Amino acid sequence: MFFPTHSFQGLQTPFYYYDTALLGQTLDVVAAQLALREGWHMHYAVKANANPVLLRIISARGFGADCVSGGEVRTAIAHGFAPETVVYAGVGKSDWEINLALDAGIGCFNVESAAELRVINDLAGAKGVQAPVALRVNPDIGAHTHANITTGLAENKFGINLEQLEGVLREALSLPHIIYRGLHFHIGSQITDMLDFQALCNRINVLSHELSRHGLPVGDINVGGGLGVDYEHPDDAPMAGFEAYFDVFRRHLDVRSGQKVHFELGRSLVAHCGSLVTRVLYVKEGTSKRFAIVDGSMTELIRPALYHAFHLPQNISVESTRPNVTYDVVGPVCESSDVFTRAFGLPECRRGDFIAFRTAGAYGESMASGYNCRPLPKSYFSSDFF
Ligand SMILES: *Cc1c(COP(=O)(O)O)cnc(C)c1O
Repeated sequence: MFFPTHSFQGLQTPFYYYDTALLGQTLDVVAAQLALREGWHMHYAVKANANPVLLRIISARGFGADCVSGGEVRTAIAHGFAPETVVYAGVGKSDWEINLALDAGIGCFNVESAAELRVINDLAGAKGVQAPVALRVNPDIGAHTHANITTGLAENKFGINLEQLEGVLREALSLPHIIYRGLHFHIGSQITDMLDFQALCNRINVLSHELSRHGLPVGDINVGGGLGVDYEHPDDAPMAGFEAYFDVFRRHLDVRSGQKVHFELGRSLVAHCGSLVTRVLYVKEGTSKRFAIVDGSMTELIRPALYHAFHLPQNISVESTRPNVTYDVVGPVCESSDVFTRAFGLPECRRGDFIAFRTAGAYGESMASGYNCRPLPKSYFSSDFF
C-alpha cells in the first residue's frame, strides 16, 4: 500500500487511513465469486467497521448488512443498505431493538433462543405484522482460532443447540406472527483453515437431511462469516483468500434448487484497506530495551491488548535507509497492556515519524473507546489525496 505521507504532515494523529481503491477491488472480487452461483448473497458484518464512508461504498455494491444491535440496524439503513437485505443476530435483543427492526422492515431476524422467538412473535403481533426469522444453530464446531472469537462450540452462548433445534423449529412454524425463513450459522472469526468451513458444510448437510426426514422445512442457509486475513504480510497478501473460501461452499454445501445461500463476511472485506496512522512522540531507553512511544493507543486499536493481535508497524516517514533498531512499540494509555508489539525491528524511529499499523480496517475504529478521555479517532480516505 502506498501512503501519501507528505499530505499527512498537517494532520492531527492518530487517525485511520482507508484505501478506498483497495476496498473497491476487494468488493469486485467478492461480487465476482458470488455471481458464480444463483441465489448467493453477501451481508457485510457492520460490527467490523461502521465508518459511514465505508458503509456507503459497500451498500452501493448492492450488498446487504449483517447487524448485531438495533444501533447497527439503524446505522446500516441510514447509510444505504436496503432494509430487506438487513439481517439481525444477537443473543440479547432488547424490545426497543426488535421494534426498531420490525418498523424498518428488515429481511431476517437470526433468532438465538426459544424465549427470543416468543418475544419477537408477541412484538410483531402487537404491530399486526409478521417477522421473518432464521434460527441460529450452534453447530458445535470448534474453529481453530482465538478462544475469545470462537462462537460455534456447544458450551458457547450463541445459537440454539442441535438437540433443541427441532422443537424450536416446530414452534416457529406454529407461531402466527413468525415467518420461518431458514437456518443461520456462524462458527467464529479469523478462520484461516478452510477445513473448518468444510466441517460446517458437512454439518449443515447432515442437519438438512435430518430435518427433511422429519418432514421439516430447511429453508435458506446463512453460513455466517469468519474468513481470516494474513496480518503478517499485508503487502504480499493484500486480500483475503476469497476464491478458496467460496470454493469450499461450492464444492461441499448441498444446495437444493431455489434455496438461497447467505454469507456474512466482515473482517475479510475491510481489514486490509485500513491502517492506524500515529506519530512517534518519544524514544525512551530502558535498561534492557528501547520503547518507541507513539500517540496512538489501545483506545483507537484495542486488538493487540485484547487478543494479543499483531498489526505490522511500518515507519512510513523513512525514505532513505536508516539502521534497523528493535523497539517495544507502545501507546500513552495508563494500562500495561497498551502495547502494539514487543521487540520489533523498525528503521530507526525519530520524534515526529509516522508509524502506520497495518491491516487495521476491521475491529479497529469500530471498537474505539474514549478511555482516558481520549477523543475518538478521525478517518481519512485515499480518495481525499489521490
Ligand atoms: C461478527 C459476525 C460476523 C462477521 O465475522 P467476521 O469474522 O468479521 O467475518 C458474521 N456473522 C455474525 C453473526 C457475527 O456475529
